[in-house]
Amino acid sequence: MFTMPNTRMSSELPHQLGCALEHGPVGSYLKVNSLMETSVPGVFACGDTARGFGNVAMAVGDGAMAGASVHRSLVFGH
Ligand SMILES: Cc1cc2nc3c(=O)[nH]c(=O)nc-3n(C[C@H](O)[C@H](O)[C@H](O)COP(=O)(O)OP(=O)(O)OC[C@H]3O[C@@H](n4cnc5c(N)ncnc54)[C@H](O)[C@@H]3O)c2cc1C
Repeated sequence: MFTMPNTRMSSELPHQLGCALEHGPVGSYLKVNSLMETSVPGVFACGDTARGFGNVAMAVGDGAMAGASVHRSLVFGH
Protein backbone atom coordinates (compact mmCIF):
# COMPACT_ATOMS: atom_id res chain seq x y z
CA MET A 1 0.00 0.00 0.00
CA PHE A 2 1.32 3.47 -0.89
CA THR A 3 0.32 6.50 1.15
CA MET A 4 0.74 10.20 0.49
CA PRO A 5 0.82 12.03 3.83
CA ASN A 6 0.75 15.81 4.04
CA THR A 7 3.82 17.60 5.33
CA ARG A 8 4.00 20.64 7.56
CA MET A 9 6.76 23.01 8.73
CA SER A 10 8.27 22.04 12.07
CA SER A 11 9.39 25.61 12.78
CA GLU A 12 7.38 28.82 13.15
CA LEU A 13 10.39 30.89 12.07
CA PRO A 14 9.46 31.27 8.36
CA HIS A 15 5.98 32.41 9.37
CA GLN A 16 7.40 34.81 11.96
CA LEU A 17 9.74 36.30 9.34
CA GLY A 18 6.87 36.68 6.88
CA CYS A 19 8.15 34.29 4.21
CA ALA A 20 5.64 33.62 1.44
CA LEU A 21 4.46 30.04 0.89
CA GLU A 22 3.62 27.89 -2.11
CA HIS A 23 0.97 25.21 -1.81
CA GLY A 24 1.45 21.77 -3.36
CA PRO A 25 -0.56 18.55 -3.27
CA VAL A 26 1.23 17.31 -0.12
CA GLY A 27 1.48 20.56 1.81
CA SER A 28 3.00 24.01 1.93
CA TYR A 29 6.61 24.95 1.33
CA LEU A 30 8.59 28.16 1.14
CA LYS A 31 8.46 30.18 -2.05
CA VAL A 32 12.02 30.75 -3.33
CA ASN A 33 13.57 32.22 -6.47
CA SER A 34 16.29 30.61 -8.60
CA LEU A 35 18.91 31.70 -6.01
CA MET A 36 16.92 29.91 -3.26
CA GLU A 37 16.08 33.26 -1.67
CA THR A 38 12.67 33.49 -0.03
CA SER A 39 10.31 36.44 -0.40
CA VAL A 40 12.17 38.02 2.54
CA PRO A 41 15.50 39.49 1.34
CA GLY A 42 18.47 37.81 2.99
CA VAL A 43 16.52 34.71 4.00
CA PHE A 44 17.35 31.57 2.02
CA ALA A 45 15.80 28.10 2.07
CA CYS A 46 16.60 24.75 0.48
CA GLY A 47 15.58 21.12 0.34
CA ASP A 48 12.17 19.84 1.34
CA THR A 49 11.28 23.11 3.03
CA ALA A 50 11.52 24.85 -0.34
CA ARG A 51 10.17 22.11 -2.65
CA GLY A 52 6.83 20.54 -3.33
CA PHE A 53 8.33 17.05 -3.27
CA GLY A 54 11.17 15.28 -1.47
CA ASN A 55 14.32 14.12 -3.24
CA VAL A 56 17.83 13.84 -1.81
CA ALA A 57 19.70 14.90 -4.96
CA MET A 58 17.48 17.96 -5.38
CA ALA A 59 17.91 18.89 -1.71
CA VAL A 60 21.71 18.65 -2.00
CA GLY A 61 21.71 20.78 -5.15
CA ASP A 62 19.44 23.33 -3.50
CA GLY A 63 21.80 23.47 -0.53
CA ALA A 64 24.78 24.17 -2.77
CA MET A 65 22.89 26.95 -4.55
CA ALA A 66 21.60 28.43 -1.28
CA GLY A 67 25.12 28.44 0.19
CA ALA A 68 26.57 30.16 -2.86
CA SER A 69 23.70 32.66 -2.83
CA VAL A 70 24.23 33.50 0.84
CA HIS A 71 27.89 34.16 0.09
CA ARG A 72 26.94 36.31 -2.91
CA SER A 73 24.43 38.23 -0.81
CA LEU A 74 26.94 38.89 1.96
CA VAL A 75 29.65 40.07 -0.46
CA PHE A 76 27.57 42.05 -2.97
CA GLY A 77 24.35 42.79 -1.09
CA HIS A 78 20.94 42.45 -2.69
C1 LIG B 1 9.95 7.61 3.94
C2 LIG B 1 10.76 8.47 2.99
C3 LIG B 1 11.42 7.85 1.94
C4 LIG B 1 12.18 8.64 1.06
N1 LIG B 1 12.83 8.02 0.02
C5 LIG B 1 13.60 8.76 -0.79
C6 LIG B 1 14.34 8.14 -1.85
O1 LIG B 1 14.30 6.92 -2.05
N2 LIG B 1 15.10 8.93 -2.65
C7 LIG B 1 15.17 10.28 -2.47
O2 LIG B 1 15.89 10.95 -3.23
N3 LIG B 1 14.48 10.89 -1.50
C8 LIG B 1 13.70 10.17 -0.64
N4 LIG B 1 13.00 10.79 0.36
C9 LIG B 1 13.06 12.26 0.45
C10 LIG B 1 14.34 12.71 1.14
O3 LIG B 1 14.48 12.02 2.38
C11 LIG B 1 14.26 14.22 1.38
O4 LIG B 1 13.93 14.89 0.17
C12 LIG B 1 15.58 14.78 1.90
O5 LIG B 1 15.96 14.12 3.08
C13 LIG B 1 15.42 16.28 2.16
O6 LIG B 1 16.58 16.76 2.78
P1 LIG B 1 16.49 18.08 3.65
O7 LIG B 1 17.87 18.32 4.11
O8 LIG B 1 15.76 19.14 2.90
O9 LIG B 1 15.54 17.71 4.89
P2 LIG B 1 15.75 16.63 6.05
O10 LIG B 1 16.58 15.46 5.58
O11 LIG B 1 14.37 16.35 6.57
O12 LIG B 1 16.61 17.40 7.12
C14 LIG B 1 16.06 18.43 7.91
C15 LIG B 1 16.76 18.40 9.26
O13 LIG B 1 16.37 19.55 10.00
C16 LIG B 1 16.10 19.15 11.32
N5 LIG B 1 15.17 20.13 11.89
C17 LIG B 1 13.84 20.24 11.68
N6 LIG B 1 13.35 21.27 12.38
C18 LIG B 1 14.39 21.83 13.04
C19 LIG B 1 14.52 22.94 13.93
N7 LIG B 1 13.45 23.70 14.27
N8 LIG B 1 15.73 23.19 14.41
C20 LIG B 1 16.82 22.46 14.06
N9 LIG B 1 16.76 21.42 13.23
C21 LIG B 1 15.55 21.10 12.72
C22 LIG B 1 15.51 17.75 11.21
O14 LIG B 1 15.66 17.04 12.42
C23 LIG B 1 16.37 17.16 10.09
O15 LIG B 1 17.57 16.57 10.58
C24 LIG B 1 12.26 10.04 1.25
C25 LIG B 1 11.58 10.64 2.33
C26 LIG B 1 10.84 9.86 3.19
C27 LIG B 1 10.13 10.52 4.36
